[in-house]
Amino acid sequence: MSEVSVIGLGEMGTALAAALVRHGKKVTVWNRSPEKAAALVAAGALLAPDSAAAIRASPVVILCVSNYAATRAILEPTDVSSGLPGKLVVQLSTGTPKEARELETWVQARSARYVDGAILAWPRQIGGADAVILVSGSAEAQAQGHSLLSLLAGGLTSMGPEVGASSSLFAAVLAYLAGRWIGLSHGALICEAEGLDVAAYGALLANLAPILGQDAKHMGDVIAKNAFTSPESTLRTAAGDISGLMRHSQEARINGEFPRFAADLFARAVRAGHGAEEHAAIIKVLRQA
Ligand code: NAP
Repeated sequence: MSEVSVIGLGEMGTALAAALVRHGKKVTVWNRSPEKAAALVAAGALLAPDSAAAIRASPVVILCVSNYAATRAILEPTDVSSGLPGKLVVQLSTGTPKEARELETWVQARSARYVDGAILAWPRQIGGADAVILVSGSAEAQAQGHSLLSLLAGGLTSMGPEVGASSSLFAAVLAYLAGRWIGLSHGALICEAEGLDVAAYGALLANLAPILGQDAKHMGDVIAKNAFTSPESTLRTAAGDISGLMRHSQEARINGEFPRFAADLFARAVRAGHGAEEHAAIIKVLRQA
């Protein structure tokens, strides 16, 4: 028996298994394409011949594959699922809260415990103090997994017993990141069009990170308290600035999809009478959609 099995050796699964090996754990690994296990085996991991053997090898099984459908495809064959009773299954693949709830029910019906996790880190951060992993599931399941999972992320954070909570918060964070990635790329288009150094633009944003972090916290507070009436800068001001972005995309002849999308939302919020409120009041338009 090993202490933990890691199933899925893509970018993230490899980082998880490597961190556990570095911490001296006896780790069994399995991947659909076995060649990805070579470096881990050289570092001391054991390669299971198939997924059924990987499940049987350890009391704790961590899965990190593309999505829940892939996890299901691995776990559901009878020779694999018959090895589940008494195990702790930790699912670190990304999915929706509904998928997490359904998988917990399925795993518990096979007399195993289940922890659902969401990774808020790059593979290079795994095993370090900066990595955050959100976990949810029964107190017993989380307690069983805690010592191993805390080796993977200094920021291991319990979201409590509601098993969909980690996926829910991951989705909320991903929504923020999606907007940020598109916004950053449109900013890079502007720099390219105007002859500015895109790397310097990235560095400027990095310097602004503490202020942007405070803004995120402020917006969360304002929305949670439904208190939009004391703006330092109004939604109308933001709407005007963002319509300027649209003008710029026409003048500079660059892609205008993102400015159009943003300007449309802000204009609708102004038309709906929220112009004098905090820019977080944009959520009132989104709530109607
Ligand atoms: P990846 O490099 O694309 O690896 C995907 C893994 O899933 C591979 O091991 C692949 O096996 C396996 N897989 C896919 N379909 C399968 C199937 N039907 N049966 C068996 N195995 C299957 O992806 P990744 O970056 O490691 O991401 C894995 C999970 O971590 C995703 O849910 C992702 O959202 C999450 N995550 C990743 C990051 C990140 O920065 N990478 C950050 C946070 C969360 P093969 O090698 O055989 O193709």
